Amino acid sequence: MNLASYLRDVKDFPKPGIVFKDITPMLQSPAAMDEAIRQLADRFKADKIDKIAAIESRGFIFGAPLALRMGIGFIPVRKPGKLPWRTQSVNYMLEYGSGTLEIHEDAVQKGERVVVVDDLLATGGTARAACELVERLGGRLIGCAFIVELAFLAGRKKLTGHRIESLVKFD
Ligand code: AMP
Repeated sequence: MNLASYLRDVKDFPKPGIVFKDITPMLQSPAAMDEAIRQLADRFKADKIDKIAAIESRGFIFGAPLALRMGIGFIPVRKPGKLPWRTQSVNYMLEYGSGTLEIHEDAVQKGERVVVVDDLLATGGTARAACELVERLGGRLIGCAFIVELAFLAGRKKLTGHRIESLVKFD
């Protein structure tokens, strides 16, 4: 199955010059979703992962079924003010301005093996922030997983030292 055919390019969204990779066609296809989740689960099946930490909000769409399929726990990494209990937070730079991500303090136990999941890797700042939160809580970061990688934005560079898995790459 060609997973790339389930992505739609939307030009000039959310602002001029950006080509937005719309995943909603994939969400409408149970076969494509099943294939994407199966492929991600396969890549980490030998790694004894304990938990998936997924980034709000499109990361949740893939992270939750991946965790369920692997039979492991799910951790929401959220935008500020959304998590009800005690949190750790990290600020990071975006292309324009900055962002913040939060995680519950008890989401990861020391030494737990965690994979960070998001829908798309662009410049890598968002994923790096999530990795930092997992590591701050004492988790062992096994890697990051994405459906789509915009390789020309060199997100891997920002995640140097971390294993990166992606299913559809644009060079
Ligand atoms: P970055 O921190 O630059 O790697 O940005 C990654 C985050 O922004 C992910 O959560 C993506 O969902 C979103 N994102 C960035 N660029 C795009 C794009 N061209 N199409 C769709 N989503 C994008």
